[in-house]
Amino acid sequence: MFDEIKKEYINLMNNEKLPYIKCKSCGNVFFYPRDYCPKCNSKNLEVKVSKGDGKVFSITKFQGKKGDTYYGIVEMDEGFRIYSNIKNSLEIGDKVTVEFIEENGRKIPIFKGLSGT
Ligand SMILES: [Zn+2]
Repeated sequence: MFDEIKKEYINLMNNEKLPYIKCKSCGNVFFYPRDYCPKCNSKNLEVKVSKGDGKVFSITKFQGKKGDTYYGIVEMDEGFRIYSNIKNSLEIGDKVTVEFIEENGRKIPIFKGLSGT
């Protein structure tokens, strides 16, 4: 069961679609793939695709040799939270949308502001 979820999840991500997991028993939604619901322990799960819109919940700045990078928690319209790369010049509460960048041969999400930043 978990292998199927993980496979579908990676597949969606590589096709530049943001997956999330919904528990069919209690309706809980979450991002990271697991084989049971963290809320009710049900294994009755399905993989869904997010519309990709949300807002910034928190931001952390990392200073690196190649410049600063930003990570943040984004609260998605579907109700789950994702810890992800975000572009700079965003602030808490800003509306964002997902796009994908390639890193080490696989696609990962990065969030940018809806206003074009
Ligand atoms: Zn559940």
